[in-house]
Amino acid sequence: MADRLYDVIVIGGGNAGLCAALTAREAGASVLLLESAPREWRGGNSQHTRNLRCMHDAPQDVLTDSYPEEEYWQDLKKVTGGITSENLARLAIRDSSHCRDWMRRHGVHFQPSLSGTLQLSRTNAFFLGGGKALVNAYYRSAERSGVNIRYEAPVDRLDLSHGRFVAAHLGGERIAAKACVVASGGFESNREWMREAWGQVGGEWVSDNFLIRGTRFNMGVLLKFLIGAGADAIGDPTQSHCVAIDARAPLYDGGICTRVDSVSLGIVVNKHAARFYDEGEDFWPKRYAIWGRLVAGQPGQIAYSVIDAKAIGRFMPPVFPPLEAQSLPELARKLGLDESGLARTVEEFNAACRGGTFDHTALDDCATSGLTPPKTHWARPIDTAPFYAYPLRPGITFTYLGVKVNEQAAVHFSGQPSPNLFAAGEIMAGNVLGKGYTAGVGMTIGTAFGRIAGAQAAAAVLQGKLRATA
Ligand SMILES: Cc1cc2nc3c(=O)[nH]c(=O)nc-3n(C[C@H](O)[C@H](O)[C@H](O)COP(=O)(O)OP(=O)(O)OC[C@H]3O[C@@H](n4cnc5c(N)ncnc54)[C@H](O)[C@@H]3O)c2cc1C
Repeated sequence: MADRLYDVIVIGGGNAGLCAALTAREAGASVLLLESAPREWRGGNSQHTRNLRCMHDAPQDVLTDSYPEEEYWQDLKKVTGGITSENLARLAIRDSSHCRDWMRRHGVHFQPSLSGTLQLSRTNAFFLGGGKALVNAYYRSAERSGVNIRYEAPVDRLDLSHGRFVAAHLGGERIAAKACVVASGGFESNREWMREAWGQVGGEWVSDNFLIRGTRFNMGVLLKFLIGAGADAIGDPTQSHCVAIDARAPLYDGGICTRVDSVSLGIVVNKHAARFYDEGEDFWPKRYAIWGRLVAGQPGQIAYSVIDAKAIGRFMPPVFPPLEAQSLPELARKLGLDESGLARTVEEFNAACRGGTFDHTALDDCATSGLTPPKTHWARPIDTAPFYAYPLRPGITFTYLGVKVNEQAAVHFSGQPSPNLFAAGEIMAGNVLGKGYTAGVGMTIGTAFGRIAGAQAAAAVLQGKLRATA
């Protein structure tokens, strides 16, 4: 195998890399996929996913109603605060309207959204069996179609010549190929790099209190290498998809079941038992991805979602049971918070609740008045025992710092697209996601740009072959 010259090397075996490998192979290229993880941990963050956000003009199999291109684009523009490339975003959005037929051909099955999730039946197609089933299906299809796959193959650097890919190095081995797709994710698993990005507050490294929701293998080695080798970078290293997860979750791979979805039904306090943000600002699917960053901004990067008996059954419970108490002082003791501080915060909040008709499925009129910060919807007094709390930590899903690409997914060096080096997935998601997030768009970007990168890599090679033999 060592001497074989592949047409295309794909680095990274998550959703984006697999989409690239399958597409390049379909186009007739010989493909080698290099994946850091051992086989049992393959699939990167993609193995933890559940759905992708899809544009559609009328109801389609598992999707209800319609979700037109313009609405999708406006949603993305809003959450990113306009820090996005409209061209690339629209490319991904349009691809999402037809990619599911291709996905099905490679063994992915869909199901309607589950009740109690993020109210996504209109916009998001759920994978039957989740992301694990999706990556397994793609690996099976890749094996069947003749993609060569190597596990435990972490690429540490590339040979480049004036922005052109020449070879990949892993350990002492050098593997040359005619084109390459880098799909090796962000750098969220790299604790040192996270420290560098977030710095210290009061002598403490802020990111040491973060938990990584996904894989331990996204160390950002090639991202760092490429930026160092002159690839144009895009995005801010502190921007990421970052949600509030249960503080008891493991450091890596806690996955979806550690996310805490009770925030909008109660109040959130920091370690001084003080509220710090409007818990009812908007529907949870549009706000869940800001709460990790909000908790990251609190002292000690810890917070607590406090609810009462009225909230139970209204949100998807995380895997860990809440702390439970018959009174607020008892709850404060269990959380290690100042008893009178928590009592005062809850009293002030309860007194500021202005009644209204509670409706968690609408932006209802239950708001506080005269309270800072306000709670603008779903504000009901916390007064019914038992009381519950979930401890919260920032849970990093994936980072947004990436390499700049164009519509062909070609990596840019000093503004010029590489002729044979392409990028897909988290490593370039920052082109579309400058900040913020809307559920399911990570897989939309990875699927669209994975397929574009695979097709372009194959085209670069096959056109090159035609020239060589002409
Ligand atoms: C808990 C969780 C839930 C999520 N849920 C959703 C969801 O429902 N919908 C959605 O759209 N998005 C979701 N996301 C985000 C989604 O996972 C990503 O947007 C998407 O998977 C990115 O795909 P990728 O292929 O770029 O990265 P990954 O799937 O992370 O794949 C990158 C791969 O590269 C490999 N790699 C890294 N470095 C190297 C190297 N040097 N050499 C070789 N291989 C390397 C890694 O081992 C990994 O397998 C979720 C993420 C998490 C963590």
